[in-house]
Amino acid sequence: MLEQTDIDKLRDSAVKPCDLMIGDKFCDSQNGETLDVVSPINGSLLTTIAAGTKDDANQAISAARAAFEDRRWCGQTPAARKNVLLAWADLIEVEALELTVLGVRDNGTEISMAIKAEVGSAVNTIRYYAEALDKVYGQIAPTDDDVLGLVHHEPVGVIGAIVPWNFPLMIGAWKLAPALAMGNSVVLKPSETASLSLLRICQLALDAGLPEGVLNVVSGRGDIVGEAISLSMDVDVIAFTGSGTTGRCLLENSARSNMKRCYLELGGKSPNVVFEDVENLSEAAKTSAAGIFRNSGQVCVAASRLVVQQSIHDEFVEELAKHAAAMKVGNPLEITTQSGAINNSGQLKQDLKFVEIAQAEGANLYQGGRQILQDTGGYYMEPTIFTNVKSEDSLARNEVFGPVLAVSAFEDEADATTIANSTDFGLAAGIWTADLSRAHRMVRSLRAGVVHVNTYGGTDITVPLGGVKQSGNGHDKSMHAFDKYCDLKTAWIKL
Ligand code: NAD
Repeated sequence: MLEQTDIDKLRDSAVKPCDLMIGDKFCDSQNGETLDVVSPINGSLLTTIAAGTKDDANQAISAARAAFEDRRWCGQTPAARKNVLLAWADLIEVEALELTVLGVRDNGTEISMAIKAEVGSAVNTIRYYAEALDKVYGQIAPTDDDVLGLVHHEPVGVIGAIVPWNFPLMIGAWKLAPALAMGNSVVLKPSETASLSLLRICQLALDAGLPEGVLNVVSGRGDIVGEAISLSMDVDVIAFTGSGTTGRCLLENSARSNMKRCYLELGGKSPNVVFEDVENLSEAAKTSAAGIFRNSGQVCVAASRLVVQQSIHDEFVEELAKHAAAMKVGNPLEITTQSGAINNSGQLKQDLKFVEIAQAEGANLYQGGRQILQDTGGYYMEPTIFTNVKSEDSLARNEVFGPVLAVSAFEDEADATTIANSTDFGLAAGIWTADLSRAHRMVRSLRAGVVHVNTYGGTDITVPLGGVKQSGNGHDKSMHAFDKYCDLKTAWIKL
C-alpha cells in the first residue's frame, strides 16, 4: 500500500551521479562529460549522468559482442537464464518504492500511476519473459520422409535498445526482458531526460547474476550515443521506442551500415470515437479525460483526438471538460495528484506552441491552454481542450505528447471511420457504443495496433503493443515480442 509518509521520507534524498555500465566497469565517459538531470517537479538539479561518447558506445558494443560470442549467457541452460531473470525481478521489487520515487523525480509521472506502470510493470514483464523462455519450442517441418527439417530459434546477437523518457522502466523492461531471455546481449541507451531508475535496475541485473558484458548501458545524447549504436556494424537489431523523427534516422543509419533490423515503436494521434448510443456517457467522458490527461498526455497511446457524434457533442464535451477541470495537476510525488509534470522545459514549450498553432488555425479553445504552477519552478500545464478541430489541422495530424485534446464531430459511422483514420499514425483507438455489431465493424475498419471498446487504455503483458502506418513496426509485450529477438534457423537433414 502506497503511503504518503513513506514517499516523503525519500522525496529529497541525495542522488549520486550515474556512471556508464560497460562490461564489468562502472565508469565516467571517456571525455568526462556529464549531462545535468533536472527534476521537472521544480526545475532543480537532481544529479548528473555520464554523457557517453561514440567511443564509449563502441566499447559497450564490443563488450556485448564478446559476451555473445563466448556464449557466457546464451550458452547457459534456459533454466539457468530463467533463474537469473527471476532473481533480477525480485531485487527490483525489493527497491520498488525507492525506484518509483527516483523515477518520478526524474520524469514527472504522477506516483499513483508510476508505482504500477513503472516498477510494477517492469517486475511483471521480467517475470513473464523469465517464465516464458523455456516454453519456446522449435518445429519439425512436414517434409518428405527421407529428410528431417528442423526449425530452431536462435538469439540474434547484439541488441541496441534505445528508449524514451516516458515510462523508462516499463518500456526499458519491454525491450530488455525478452531480448535477454532469448540469450542476446544488449547495449541500452536510456533517454537524456529520464534514465535514473533504469540505470539502477541495470545495476541490479548484475547483482542478480547476469554475466558481465551481457547488459551494457551508455547514457548520453541521442545524436551521439544513439547514432553510434545505429551506425555500428556490430549491432544486429535496434529495438527503439521514441519519436518518428528519430525512427527515420535509425532506418537511414541501418541502411548506411549493416542493414540491421529496426523495430520502431513510434508516436500516435489516437482517435477515441464516441457514438450517440454510448451506454454510460458520464463514465465514458471520465475515462476519455483520463485517456488523454493522465501523465500530462505523455503516453504514446494517449486518446488525443476525441471524435464524437454530433448529436451528443456538446453534452459529451461538457462532461469531459468537467472531469478534466477536476483533475488534480501538480507535484507528482503527492499520492492524490492525477496528472504530474511535463518531462522537460522543451516539451512544455512545444505543448504551448501547439495551443498557439491550433488557435491560429481556427480551432476553438474550449478549456485550459496555459502553463500553471510556475512558482514551483517545475513544468506544468492545464488539461487543454480544443473543439472544432478539422482533420487537416496541425492539431489533428501531429502528436503533441502533452495534455492537449483535439475534438471533432461526426455524423455517421462512415464519417467517424474516415475522420479516425485520417492521420499518418496508427497506434491506438477507442470506440464507445452499445451496438456490438458496430463495435466489431469499427475494430475492423480502424487502422491501429490496439482498439479499445467501451474503455480506454487498459492492457497487460499478455497482449502485443505496436503500431501500424507511421506509428512503427514490430511488437513489444506478449510472446510476439520474442520474434524481434531471435532468428529462425533451418536444419535440413538427409535421412
Ligand atoms: P525521442 O525520439 O526524442 O528519443 C527517444 C530516444 O532516442 C532517446 O533515448 C534519445 O536520446 C534517442 N535519440 C534521439 N536522437 C537520436 C538519434 N539521432 N539517433 C539515435 N537515437 C536518438 O523521443 P522522446 O521525446 O524521448 O519520446 C517521446 C516519443 O516516444 C513520442 O513520440 C511517443 O509517442 C513515443 N513513444 C512511443 C511508444 C510506443 O510504444 N509506440 C511508447 C512511448 C513513447
